[in-house]
Amino acid sequence: MTASKHNLLGLDRGSAQSFFEGIGEKPYRSDQLLQWIHQFGITDCSDMTNFSKKLRGWLTEEACISPPTIVTDQQAADGTRKWLLQLQDGNCIEMVFIPETDRGTLCVSSQVGCVLNCTFCATAKQGFNRNLTSAEIIGQVWVAYQALGCPDREKRLITNVVMMGMGEPLANFDAVVRSMNIMMDDFAYGISRRRVTLSTAGMVPMIDKLREVCPVSLAVSLHAPNDELRSELVPLNKKYSIAELMAACRRYVLGKNRARITFEYVMLDGINDQPGHAKELAHCLEDVPGKVNLIPFNAFAGSAYRRSPQKRIDHFREILLKAGIMTVTRRPRGDDIDAACGQLAGKIQDRTRRSGKQINKGLTG
Ligand code: SAH
Repeated sequence: MTASKHNLLGLDRGSAQSFFEGIGEKPYRSDQLLQWIHQFGITDCSDMTNFSKKLRGWLTEEACISPPTIVTDQQAADGTRKWLLQLQDGNCIEMVFIPETDRGTLCVSSQVGCVLNCTFCATAKQGFNRNLTSAEIIGQVWVAYQALGCPDREKRLITNVVMMGMGEPLANFDAVVRSMNIMMDDFAYGISRRRVTLSTAGMVPMIDKLREVCPVSLAVSLHAPNDELRSELVPLNKKYSIAELMAACRRYVLGKNRARITFEYVMLDGINDQPGHAKELAHCLEDVPGKVNLIPFNAFAGSAYRRSPQKRIDHFREILLKAGIMTVTRRPRGDDIDAACGQLAGKIQDRTRRSGKQINKGLTG
């Protein structure tokens, strides 16, 4: 069975080199392998014609290239596309593609479920099941490239990848870094470092580690300007306070990695959207180079919150702008197929979910 074979899909250049050296092959085979898999979409090792017949035979016997399979493929009125993908063990994850005039963003999952339990997030409601492997993370990009057609450099549709799907990417560090390496590799997808964004709820030590090994663009889910409120909305805050998180953010942008940080702030009616919160937030961000992304809350069945009225979101934004903080309001996309931020909750098959009922109405059929 393929399940016991080595899935070559998840090898980044470094691990592919070690793999080839381990079987007595030249390390440069890794570039060829990445190209076959990610640029040419090959899943049968016997098609790798610049490999010797012996190597092709060996790979066919001992290894596999197994991407996730598509269960459903929905397209929203605004062009947003959402896929439900099934993994080899039967678990399912969701992935979203958001086309815009000047770019195309793929939103990728890093875990089945999530352990963090943020109170406003649909994924949290299903509990945590497991980490994805690097093959399962990059497998999403692979599937999207195949589904959208043409990985051709000049005409490519996927220009950006955001680790903003299901799960906390920094809680699955090694597999996430390995898959981001593949996204950025010129022999695979060749996406530039600043066009790959990792979003975290604030795992402070891992932010430092990321800065060392793979300094991609960083998004931080802040959602509240003080510890009391943030600990309620994002329980991880009890472990790493806002002050510690801000210090890690400052370290992240130091030195050669000059990218700004995006602070995500979900707008919850009557909870964190008052003018006082905006002023407090401006104060919080005073000496951290970054911009704010206001996300109108996306409701899902069973959620206790409501989206802030547009007028209040606008007012909140004005206060931040006046304080000199670049602020944009994220336009909800793919609402009609439950593809918007925080709504991803692919059906999972074991019994670890927190609530027994299926959350995502679009996927119950
Ligand atoms: N664990 C990572 C990735 C999560 S999803 C993180 O916390 O950053 C990406 C973003 O969507 C996060 O900012 C998350 O807080 C936000 N989000 C979650 N649920 C939401 C909802 N129902 N409406 C709007 N945004 C939501």
